[in-house]
Amino acid sequence: GATPLDAAWLRRHPLPQPGNDADKNSRGAVLVAGGCREVPGAVLLAGTAALRAGAGRLQLASAASVAVPLALAVPEARVIGLPETEEGAVAAAAAEVLARRGGAADALLLGPGMMGGEPISALLASLLPRLDGPALVLDGAALESLSRQQQAVRRHAGRVVITPHEGEMARLLETGRDTVRADPLGAAREASGRLQAVTVMKGGCTHIVTPEGQAWRHDAGNAGLAMSGSGDVLAGVIAGLLARGAPPLQAALWGVFLHSEAGRILLERQGGIGFLARDLPAEIPRVLASMA
Ligand code: AMP
Ligand code: MG
Repeated sequence: GATPLDAAWLRRHPLPQPGNDADKNSRGAVLVAGGCREVPGAVLLAGTAALRAGAGRLQLASAASVAVPLALAVPEARVIGLPETEEGAVAAAAAEVLARRGGAADALLLGPGMMGGEPISALLASLLPRLDGPALVLDGAALESLSRQQQAVRRHAGRVVITPHEGEMARLLETGRDTVRADPLGAAREASGRLQAVTVMKGGCTHIVTPEGQAWRHDAGNAGLAMSGSGDVLAGVIAGLLARGAPPLQAALWGVFLHSEAGRILLERQGGIGFLARDLPAEIPRVLASMA
């Protein structure tokens, strides 16, 4: 079975805290790479969430044609325009700049809002073997070709978190959604074992599993969180916590908790459904403070 995630466990495993004399580099740098012309906002949500989770520096990397509006929408970020395909997806050639910039970050989040298909699969095949150092969060389209890239992911053992929902997990394991739905914990264990990564198997009840098979469950039970952009915020929070220096398991457990508590606060204040993913990040500092 899986242990219910509780605040007591989290309080016993406090996040690394910056000292009063910290500078932005010591607080950790996050690079969020993703998006496309049709979905330019996902990296905005994830990046904002990473800063709200306490990271000190943010870089966003997305399709070149959306880089300028993105930079204006997130004035805290440095924005990198990536080579793009004709459809406005991030092109495989982006691997080079991502290897360089990602190597300088403390945490690299790949995938929010990214268009799936061959370019992203080729990008990962080229990027993963070249990256050294940063903690990795793989989300969205960055998950879909991982069944073919297990070795490349395992190279990063001990610093990877994956955040699939049911459909992404089904593709990752090359199985059906029904199989994942019937046993989400089993699916998460399988993925964690194959990839040597911490798995956050998302849903109304989220399972968090280590490569060694330790498992937690968190039942947020809040349909308000089941909306566009919600997962991008979660992935950003986890990346922010990794950049602060939390190890993958701690970042995953804290991230799931902070995301769901932010959702609970909005539910209480704004009503059960209809709040926006963009409203979640601003609640995170208060939740963090309430846990200190
Ligand atoms: P995504 O599908 O990538 O946008 O991610 C959705 C996010 O919302 C994940 O963090 C899920 O765990 C969360 N979520 C989805 N449905 C529910 C629900 N009914 N109650 C609580 N959280 C949910
Ligand atoms: Mg998602």
